[in-house]
Amino acid sequence: MTAEELYTGLEIPTAWYNILADLPDYVPHERRPPADPGSTADGSARLVPQLPLTMYRQSVSRDRFIPIPDEVLAYYERWRPTPLLRARAFEAHLDTPAHIYYKNESVSPSGSHKLNSAIAQAYYYHRAGIQELATGTGAGQWGTALAMACRAFGMDCTVFMVRCSYDQKPQRRAMMEVLGARVVPSPSPLTRSGRAILADDPDSPGSLSIAGSEGIQYAWEGSGRRYAAGSAENHVLLHQTVIGQEAVGQMRRLGEFPDVVVAAIGAGSNFAGLAFPFYRESLAEGRDTELVAVEPKACPKLTQGKYIWDHHDATGSMPMSKMYSLGHTFVPPAIHAGGLRYHGAAPIVSWMYDQKLLSAVAYGQREVFEAGLTFARAEHIIPAPESAHAIRCVIDKAAEARRTGRETVILFSLSGHGLMDLGAYQQYMDGSLPDDSEFDDLVTDSADRLAGRPARLG
Ligand SMILES: *Cc1c(COP(=O)(O)O)cnc(C)c1O
Repeated sequence: MTAEELYTGLEIPTAWYNILADLPDYVPHERRPPADPGSTADGSARLVPQLPLTMYRQSVSRDRFIPIPDEVLAYYERWRPTPLLRARAFEAHLDTPAHIYYKNESVSPSGSHKLNSAIAQAYYYHRAGIQELATGTGAGQWGTALAMACRAFGMDCTVFMVRCSYDQKPQRRAMMEVLGARVVPSPSPLTRSGRAILADDPDSPGSLSIAGSEGIQYAWEGSGRRYAAGSAENHVLLHQTVIGQEAVGQMRRLGEFPDVVVAAIGAGSNFAGLAFPFYRESLAEGRDTELVAVEPKACPKLTQGKYIWDHHDATGSMPMSKMYSLGHTFVPPAIHAGGLRYHGAAPIVSWMYDQKLLSAVAYGQREVFEAGLTFARAEHIIPAPESAHAIRCVIDKAAEARRTGRETVILFSLSGHGLMDLGAYQQYMDGSLPDDSEFDDLVTDSADRLAGRPARLG
């Protein structure tokens, strides 16, 4: 099946793309069992099967295309297909011969790409008889998406929200509560791992991996509850490929094919969602489209992490995967791009990075906000700070195109809007936004820990 048969660019694709079909050398990522498989009130360990079988099968399948269920397609119709547009005003502002396109995932009801997987997961968990989904969220985009998705299937939703985002973004919290979710600042006294962290540091800003640990433990401690992962897992990456499936058709309709695909990386679902279908197409046609994952300097898992077996969450309650990681206990500085504050990269993305099938670049917070502002003033869409990372990279690529005089075709993911992040933009404009130089020590400490060197003092 070719992409054209699969998707013309005018309607919603009917299948997700499974990149494992095109990575024959990839050894299934799974898995070392968790060191601490959660525990019951009496302290005895137990393991609850996590994923509904269909979703588990999706995560190990080698089928190239996996049909999207009708119920999920019907929900996607609320905002998909999302626009793929040429950023002509931005090009003019940058004075570049490059053609810059963006796939606008910010038009989803939740404001980011995350709803693509949230609705699919809620559908499969609901069919498996689950009544409540729990999760951890950083900036709140995943929590918002899951709140909506649970609502769609009449399920309860409990969201552990990283403390610093909870404080920085009260409106995100309100948004989730409007949608009927319960929002708990993390670390919280509600779970064992939350209590342990609070005992150590009552002012802990939290992190995505701590919030994830809390979500897992909370799910383990009740019946009819499950933990829903917002990224990193194979099945999440799969669900997000609806983005790239559409984009391939849309670019073809415009008579273009990207030389470069750029996306911000938290754990990798946004990047995978847009880039993987282009990987397939460029492989099939013998092109060498460059795939670039953009991360914050404050959480540089690809450019400064190590390819190791590590846990997905802070307390090691989840199984281990081989991934590029800063260590699962790494607590990234409280930068505004909360969705990128995750210590590791998805196993598939990590493997591809190790094989040099994709590249990565890291930027500092201020240069990222500058890029976001530049884009907003040209195209009149205010990008999420996460998406502004991709834009920062696009600006560099556009400058390179100007130097070489090439009409480089650049496609990037506008993964979400920044309307809940205006406080951060305000700080940038006031000049009060912290830069990353003060974060350097933290990242170095993490590198030391991974290398077995004692962390520096002071
Ligand atoms: C979560 C998020 C990202 C990155 O997350 P991934 O784990 O890489 O998918 C990027 N942009 C926005 C707007 C997000 O909400």
